[in-house]
Amino acid sequence: MSTAPEHAAGTVPGAAVDPYALDREGLEALVADRGQPRYRADQIHAWLVRGVDDPAEMTDLPTALRGELATRFAPTRPELVAHTVADDGHTHKLLLRFPDGEAIETVLMLYPDRATVCISTQAGCAMGCPFCATGQAGFRRQLTAGEVVRQVVVADAALRSGAVGEAHLPDGAPSRVTNVVFMGMGEPLANLPATLATVRWLHDPDGFNLSARGITVSTVGLVPGIRQLAALGLPVTLAVSLHAATDALRDDLVPVNRQHPLAEVEEVMAEYRRTTNRRVSIEWCLIGDVNDDAEQADHLGAIARRLRAHVNVIPMNPTPGVRWKEPTRARTTAFVDRVRHRGAAITLRDTRGRDADAACGQLLASYTLGAGTRLPAAVGAADRVDAGLSLPTLQRQATDAPARPVGSSDAPDQGRGT
Ligand code: SF4
Repeated sequence: MSTAPEHAAGTVPGAAVDPYALDREGLEALVADRGQPRYRADQIHAWLVRGVDDPAEMTDLPTALRGELATRFAPTRPELVAHTVADDGHTHKLLLRFPDGEAIETVLMLYPDRATVCISTQAGCAMGCPFCATGQAGFRRQLTAGEVVRQVVVADAALRSGAVGEAHLPDGAPSRVTNVVFMGMGEPLANLPATLATVRWLHDPDGFNLSARGITVSTVGLVPGIRQLAALGLPVTLAVSLHAATDALRDDLVPVNRQHPLAEVEEVMAEYRRTTNRRVSIEWCLIGDVNDDAEQADHLGAIARRLRAHVNVIPMNPTPGVRWKEPTRARTTAFVDRVRHRGAAITLRDTRGRDADAACGQLLASYTLGAGTRLPAAVGAADRVDAGLSLPTLQRQATDAPARPVGSSDAPDQGRGT
């Protein structure tokens, strides 16, 4: 098992480290450096799982070790700068700001039998999907493994205490996080070291102990990253955001398609299913008069049937600064029925799922606009639609356009961009 760079940093004598960026091996190396037995690493890890990062509070450690850890640990504690509550207290969107000023979104969704937290892996996103507020705001930086793990720990601590900030959680809310979805800001597989390290941290049976089946990693289709996720050997759910089922349209809606076209994405999804024995999901943000027609439904149905994938349809949720529209109810129903009649399993997500999964960047956008800052105007297809070009024209332009080298321009491939 490879060790992420953040984790290796924990073994460098004298270097300050975010304790949540240390995996089990990193903690063991840290205590070994101090001549401490291995079980001390387990004790520290248990505190971290419970949300305690201050060595002074780790009361089962020797006083001298607590003092030494205090000089080594530099926890990256996020500040809660905005919090919106929806669905009668069952959905909590948190805007967390890290000490360098970068803010990201984390969403906690409560159900009778589970608590799901939706986490971000990047501040901003370089994938440039033109219908997405996060994509339009651009990429700012990668989150560290510690910053990604911390989002789950914050949500878990809220569940344990029964409140998020001043807001009490509803009666009967689960007391632990049971599911984690990598569907917040950013492309998880463009920050592969942090994503893989977080999956391992969450799944650690002697630590957070989250079932791999309770973890979903979402991607726009970064093929090498999907292969590396499969190589973890864990039945993590893979959710691929297709949003278009023809290359002509997908090149425009999901620009990384020019680097990894649909056939390649479908092939690696089939490979992932074979390797992990886990059904894959297809995410589809349904955009009014853009990808809600019969042709797209037919192609999507065929792909899903071949992959035996489950399709989740999330109607577009208009976001500040993004000029795309919600599909009509009639077109939504017709689309879902048509995909289903092609033999595919499909679910129309409810409003809550839409808020949480398809509106990445919305809280940040509201916060930024509230502070008097304008998001960049939506570009690409959105502007061209506004300029009066028909969709077929738009599709032709996308087909004629030279392939954009995503990995070398504004959209880092995995392993780059930090
Ligand atoms: S939809 Fe996802 S991948 Fe595309 S720009 Fe937004 S956050 Fe990035």
